[in-house]
Amino acid sequence: MATELTWLGHSAFRLDTPGGKRVYVDPFLHGNPRCPESELEPERCDLVVLTHGHGDHVGDTVSIATRFGCPVVAQVELRAWLTRQGVPDDGLAHSPNKGGTVSVGGVAVTLTDANHSSSTADGTYAGEPCGIVLTLEDGARLYFAGDTNVFGDMSLIARLYRPDVAVLPIGDHFTMGPQEAALAIDLLGVIRVVPCHYGTFPLLTGTPEALRELVPDGVEIIAPAPGETVTL
Ligand SMILES: [Zn+2]
Repeated sequence: MATELTWLGHSAFRLDTPGGKRVYVDPFLHGNPRCPESELEPERCDLVVLTHGHGDHVGDTVSIATRFGCPVVAQVELRAWLTRQGVPDDGLAHSPNKGGTVSVGGVAVTLTDANHSSSTADGTYAGEPCGIVLTLEDGARLYFAGDTNVFGDMSLIARLYRPDVAVLPIGDHFTMGPQEAALAIDLLGVIRVVPCHYGTFPLLTGTPEALRELVPDGVEIIAPAPGETVTL
């Protein structure tokens, strides 16, 4: 079974893994103007993974976790805040920090660096923003950069984890835009890229078309419509 990735608009993704797990990354569903109506109420969830504490990434995490009783992996301060919001306490089992890896049912979650900010909707300090490397049951690796600019240590992420696919923000304003994303692709050494964090609000002006013009032949910019599933 292949990996199926469904974009839910903004930076929200639903991932169906080769082992049959359903994973949500940054599940901003309600309030996300580009999340399809049919995706607002998840049918099931085995794991939620978060990059940082901003509301457009934490999104529906608390309701999903309490409804399905699934683990939530997030950077340690953010995970502690989520526990205070009602996510079941897991005794730090799913509270790594950068460089750490947590395995949940055959899916390994590694937190990487990201350059951004992080606080929760009520203004609480939420640690540092992160990127995520997911290593799936078949060994496939997906790198979700989270919200970030480009940074040179993306080359370390490439050396360490050799991601098969990179999910990169391209909207500009709050994150990198296409110009920086093109350099990120070079540093990461990836040839398959899924753009996100664009088109949600008028401020986010970067587009997949602009990115395509900046990358060499052989780099595939995979840009599903909201609600569309791509097989990786
Ligand atoms: Zn964001």
